[in-house]
Amino acid sequence: MRLQQADEHEAWRAEIREFLEAELPPENAFNPEFDDEPDQWAIAVEFSKKVAAKGWIGLTWPKEYGGRGLSPVANQIFLEELYAADAPMINSVGIFLAAGTILVGGTEEQKQRLLPDIANMRTLWAEGLTEPGSGSDLGSLQTRAVRDGDEWVITGEKAYTSWGPMSDVLYVAARTGSGDGASGAISIFVVDLRSPGVTLHPMRNYGGGVQSSTHLDGVRVPANALIGEEGKGWQYIMRAFYASGTVEPIYAMQEARLRDLVEHCKSIPGKLEDPHVRADLAELADMVQTQRLLAYEIIGDNAHGRQTPWGGGVQQVIAKEYEPLFAQVYDRVLGPTSQLRPASRYAPLGGKPEAWYRQSFANHAGGTSQLKRMVLATRGLGLPR
Ligand SMILES: Cc1cc2nc3c(=O)[nH]c(=O)nc-3n(C[C@H](O)[C@H](O)[C@H](O)COP(=O)(O)OP(=O)(O)OC[C@H]3O[C@@H](n4cnc5c(N)ncnc54)[C@H](O)[C@@H]3O)c2cc1C
Repeated sequence: MRLQQADEHEAWRAEIREFLEAELPPENAFNPEFDDEPDQWAIAVEFSKKVAAKGWIGLTWPKEYGGRGLSPVANQIFLEELYAADAPMINSVGIFLAAGTILVGGTEEQKQRLLPDIANMRTLWAEGLTEPGSGSDLGSLQTRAVRDGDEWVITGEKAYTSWGPMSDVLYVAARTGSGDGASGAISIFVVDLRSPGVTLHPMRNYGGGVQSSTHLDGVRVPANALIGEEGKGWQYIMRAFYASGTVEPIYAMQEARLRDLVEHCKSIPGKLEDPHVRADLAELADMVQTQRLLAYEIIGDNAHGRQTPWGGGVQQVIAKEYEPLFAQVYDRVLGPTSQLRPASRYAPLGGKPEAWYRQSFANHAGGTSQLKRMVLATRGLGLPR
């Protein structure tokens, strides 16, 4: 199967590339998920505001809420180009999870109030789903919101909050109903991170970047901080994560890295004559193309209102498990020098592969690959839970 895109899609891709060439000098290309020192963050904010000024945030949202009403394919092409260029785009929680939730379940007033601020990069969102005792088993979360007159009072602890200190608001899943389960008992709130009672305790992760332990001690939020309807939080999270029609195009980033690797190998006499190297490079290309085709299966189904077989779980398992595998095969081609950091003059490709290897294990977002296999077993094969 060969994936061909219409002329209009190729023109759109060219327009994005032109923008990136003009606005993204090579020294400003990095991933703000792992590189978030203050000077880098400032570059990422400036770049992301330029993207917003183009009207390119919320490409698939309806126009009346600050979006462009474009197709999921156009959106995917946009993301592919950003990933391929290592563009320091921020606010993914706002653009995908929060906006997805607001579009699915938010009131008209919330859509009008919250979405344009995401589209214009005025509000940065962090994600408060995981808790110390509730990660994969998110439905067991214990943070509680209690209604008190015109306010909600929220108490609990969230774990691994990415971009917490730099964000304005937190997307909080809290228990509002009784019962231990998820359905009907969980609601979503938007919480101002500067509210009294919010404390962040940052910690650095192995790949680079900071996550916080976020404490919410009797945090008071107005009644309209509840997104949509009380008790529908679980459905909103699932819809925003799994029915958004967006697939994170890690394959586009990997394809760009593979291109650099091939060029690097060409510069070393005899390297490309080694059959092991050739086989490894072909395997990397195979991984890229497999992921691209699986991604477009989901996007195509979404565009035509079809359900992707097995809930799109095959793409998720492959993408998550290929991330570290890609890094391992990549480093095998480079050899032991792949573990040298940029400070070493012997480090290949500017020393970036060393960090790429560490970062390749951060493939947890939206659920680990083991959890995705559980989805395949239950939803795909119909096995009992
Ligand atoms: C770098 C980083 C950034 C993050 N950013 C955020 C954020 O911004 N906001 C947020 O809310 N969360 C964030 N998270 C949390 C992330 O979503 C969770 O790490 C993830 O959901 C897994 O939960 P856990 O860490 O509690 O692992 P656990 O659920 O304790 O799982 C531990 C291991 O057991 C396996 N496992 C668990 N249950 C099963 C099962 N039933 N069958 C088979 N295997 C199982 C898992 O696959 C995993 O390998 C972040 C995490 C990291 C590492």
